[in-house]
Amino acid sequence: MNRSPSIRWLVDPWRDLVALLASGPCPLCARSLPRRAVAGVCPACWAGLARLVPAPHGDGPVTAFSYEGPIVVLHRRLKFAGDLSLARPLGRRMAAAWRRRHRSARFDAVVPLPSDPLRLPPRRHSARRLARVVARELELPLARRALRKTRPTRPQTGRPRRERLVRMEGVFRACPRRVGGRAILLVDDVVTTGATVAAARNALAAAGAERVGVLALARTPRPVAVRNPAGRGAAEPARPPREDPGPRTACGRPS
Ligand SMILES: [Zn+2]
Repeated sequence: MNRSPSIRWLVDPWRDLVALLASGPCPLCARSLPRRAVAGVCPACWAGLARLVPAPHGDGPVTAFSYEGPIVVLHRRLKFAGDLSLARPLGRRMAAAWRRRHRSARFDAVVPLPSDPLRLPPRRHSARRLARVVARELELPLARRALRKTRPTRPQTGRPRRERLVRMEGVFRACPRRVGGRAILLVDDVVTTGATVAAARNALAAAGAERVGVLALARTPRPVAVRNPAGRGAAEPARPPREDPGPRTACGRPS
């Protein structure tokens, strides 16, 4: 049966959830789970994830894994099937990846990349879940409301990088009171072209962030050299956009 994309979006998460509730074995290798299983995944499969090391990406976002195979399965379970128990072990691996790259760098706060509330309930906002664990592991405060979306965006899967960059311009707005003069660690779940991260980084810089580092769970196997609309690399410090960010409307309630 051919379902329209919108119907499939509605049905697939529920099918995943039913599968989750009904499942007993490890979702990655289908073997019976031993007692030492973590978040419903056997120790051998957790150890096997270490092979999914992302390709070197210069000064771009730090990622714990390459987005393929088992990580795709676990990410879908976290994001769409609501298996929140996965956030802790995955977030810990993200924090470990960050420490390996930036052991001596000072950062002041962790900011999750906001999702579109119309597309995903906050409870299943995987970047926020992961950011919470990362903040705890790195002993940094979590600034949940430092960054927000100014408008809904459609899924960008399959769209050219250039088109993504244009669509994401001005989508985010940051709160100067929460990020001004601070070194911000921005946390996302999966990085593809980096267009979303570049837009968020620019918004944080516009609000006065001293610098912005980016940490994600995974990156698609063939990263594209991301450039923001101004032609700068995603790994570079973000440039402030030309327009004023409107600080009073960006801050909302205290976090
Ligand atoms: Zn397994």
